[in-house]
Amino acid sequence: MTCDSMGRRKRRTTFPIRRRRKSVFLRCPSCQHNSITVEISKRDAKAVIRCFNCGLVREMGLKPGEGKLDVYTRFFDAFVESQP
Ligand SMILES: [Zn+2]
Repeated sequence: MTCDSMGRRKRRTTFPIRRRRKSVFLRCPSCQHNSITVEISKRDAKAVIRCFNCGLVREMGLKPGEGKLDVYTRFFDAFVESQP
């Protein structure tokens, strides 16, 4: 009887798709750690930038079409400029 072994041939090697959480930590201009996270709230058209290392929090207005990195770049520039 080979029925059983025939039935088994359908097995395909499948790769479990791991969804990598895109947790990108960005450099904090204040403490120089890669510990900045950007939370975007499209509904409120704002972004909250947070550093979990030094506790820096900044709220930025979100321009249409902007992504996290755009906001972060603006934040970074603004921060650096505001420094003496
Ligand atoms: Zn920091």
